[in-house]
Amino acid sequence: MNDTKCLVIGSGPAGYTAAIYASRANLSPILIEGLQPGGQLTQTTVIENFPGFPHGITGPELMDNMRQQAVNVGADVRPGNVVEVDFEETPYKVTLDDGSVIKADSVIVATGAAAKYLGLPDEIKYQGMGVSACATCDGFFYRKKVVAVVGGGDTACEEANYLASLAAKVYLIVRKPYLRASKAMQDRTLANPKIEVLFEHNTEGLFGDNGVEGAHVVYRKGEADEKRYDIAIDGFFLAIGHKPNSDVFKKYLKTDETGYFVPVDASGVKTVVPGVFVAGDVADPHYRQAINAAASGCRAAMEAERYLSNK
Ligand code: NDP
Repeated sequence: MNDTKCLVIGSGPAGYTAAIYASRANLSPILIEGLQPGGQLTQTTVIENFPGFPHGITGPELMDNMRQQAVNVGADVRPGNVVEVDFEETPYKVTLDDGSVIKADSVIVATGAAAKYLGLPDEIKYQGMGVSACATCDGFFYRKKVVAVVGGGDTACEEANYLASLAAKVYLIVRKPYLRASKAMQDRTLANPKIEVLFEHNTEGLFGDNGVEGAHVVYRKGEADEKRYDIAIDGFFLAIGHKPNSDVFKKYLKTDETGYFVPVDASGVKTVVPGVFVAGDVADPHYRQAINAAASGCRAAMEAERYLSNK
């Protein structure tokens, strides 16, 4: 006896959308929330580019709404984290961190991505003592203080602007001579008087006796005009992109060199294992937007329904 026709792993926009579509297709899905219920959007501030919210909506509110909608249409949303899978034969078996095993006729993997770190030993040393990868979670602790954000993309700019609304000053440490963020986000960041952008800078280490008190930075490393100096900061925020959460599935599903799932056809959701589908950021190295994640969750659920009815 199988536990469900369709198991959804992950609770971001892809996972919830897949659960909504699977429920409405009478697949009685079980959704496993993962380590971060609601996914990455629970760590963001206002979302202005998700259609249907003319005045924007906060990330946590949007995810609460999606969860409620999935529950309302019948999805069985459960806490837990997947630690092992067996996709050798159907029913597929998925083991959770509490040791329980769920058997499913089809599986949708929508496990998202996690924040990347620079790889400095000091990031580990000062984790929770000044080092963070989530401005929305930890910004509160830096009111009227000085912080640095690393990265030049939309996340870094968004976090720098958010922190600037709380902190006395924000350094934005960017390794290139330009920002990669969208034009609107660049303009907002460069116009913010509390943000000082340090272009062509890298961080070599952090220092401090009681938590982070400063960072060792280098300007134009390896060039004739290279300069090394320290900046005094109380908090160090990483915003340099994400790593897809695909490790548990790598034995069965194809990934690229970064770890993003590589779907086998233009559906973008089918994998080499029939009945196992992927959706959202874990399979999307290019767009990584909530609306795309939601759309791929829809496609995965529709393909799961088609697979099960053909079976
Ligand atoms: P991105 O991959 O877009 O940007 C990562 C940034 O970090 C780049 O500036 C990159 O530098 C820098 N970086 C990477 N590794 C290092 C390193 N080792 N040392 C120093 N700097 C480093 O990631 P984001 O998280 O910013 O964005 C992901 C996606 O989500 C994007 O498509 C973005 O547009 C989208 N997004 C949209 C938002 C919105 O619309 N509201 C909000 C947030 C994200 P380099 O440029 O040199 O590679």
